[in-house]
Amino acid sequence: MLAPGDSRYPTILHMKLSTKDLRDALATVEDPDLHKDLVSLGMVTKAELIDGRVIIGIELTTPACPMKDRIRKDIEQAVAVAATRVGATLGEVVVEFTAKVRPPVGQRAQSPLPEVKHVIAVGAGKGGVGKSSVSVNLAVGLARMGAKVGLLDGDIYGPSIPTMLGLDNLSGAVRGEMLVPFEVHGIKAITIGKLVDPDKALIWRGPMAHGAFKQLALQTEWGALDYLIVDLPPGTGDVPLTLAQLLPLSGAVIVCTPQRVAQDDARRAIRMFQQLGVGVLGIVENMSHFVADDGHEYDLFGRGGAETMAASMDLPFLGAIPIHMDLRRHCDQGTPLANWEGNGALAEALDSVCRKVASQISIASMRGELVQPTLSVVGTQKG
Ligand code: ADP
Repeated sequence: MLAPGDSRYPTILHMKLSTKDLRDALATVEDPDLHKDLVSLGMVTKAELIDGRVIIGIELTTPACPMKDRIRKDIEQAVAVAATRVGATLGEVVVEFTAKVRPPVGQRAQSPLPEVKHVIAVGAGKGGVGKSSVSVNLAVGLARMGAKVGLLDGDIYGPSIPTMLGLDNLSGAVRGEMLVPFEVHGIKAITIGKLVDPDKALIWRGPMAHGAFKQLALQTEWGALDYLIVDLPPGTGDVPLTLAQLLPLSGAVIVCTPQRVAQDDARRAIRMFQQLGVGVLGIVENMSHFVADDGHEYDLFGRGGAETMAASMDLPFLGAIPIHMDLRRHCDQGTPLANWEGNGALAEALDSVCRKVASQISIASMRGELVQPTLSVVGTQKG
């Protein structure tokens, strides 16, 4: 019987994959979102052969990556092709994922919050469409997936974050000149609602609104964050303008309900961000449809309206969130994490929005698109 080492032993049986073969194989695998290969993207942390097993380490650009399964499958296929090419017998292929959110590629102006990798504005054309609910669930959802997340309640005219995060019985703290954010539900959060009398009407003149928002954003001890979600007031007022001038934004998420009238307002908000030089990451359709207890779905507001609008404006659609009593209840009770308990469909809808937003942020950052808008607006107050 022939043994390995015998010159007549078939070559095919004792060929082995080398680390170089593995790297070459990985260089043929594209990240499906970023459209570049894993090696060029610097995502390969390990490519080893241990006891006949192939171990590949991949560092994703976000823990909320929606493409994990696809990437794993493509790697397995590429390694199998490489094994066939060199005539090696392939054992188990293990793909180990880690994640590190990357700050935007390319030059951008010095950020006043250098430890915050991405600032994301959540805006809406008008009130009541679920902008704050989406902000809270986006923040908490991304944190559940492993990201470091902050939530800034920029809705200084009608802050609902204290209720939605259940901050009523907590008191704010100050360290030196800095506000200490609340650490709840896995995120850090700050809101003007905890700094003023909750029953008092919040009337801000333009410059005051600018000052209040600036203080909240810059005088909070955020520490290192992957994502800072900013819940903006509805419409096209002073605060989005201040935000765009103050911080380099990774983009804006627009929340819209399916009705035509909501879309008209959302379109105005989208145009505003585009005018401010802020990229729109996409549109979330909230209150998309209603699922009854018997599972029957009712399209109360014309499900799909926001998705159609996104397509017509050539913007990504970031997912649909149904009208759900649990979501309303957990918002009112200040228990957002409960949205992920019990109701699989609601949790899946929220997770899907989180993954799509995270992937759009990665796409925008890798394109080097994120540049501080250079903006001059006549008559805008500073300081
Ligand atoms: P906005 O910030 O746009 O003014 P909110 O997020 O405050 O809107 O939402 C308004 C109300 O609608 C809140 O009571 C919230 O709990 C509820 N709500 C928002 N989205 C949903 C949804 N998908 N299902 C059920 N209730 C919702």
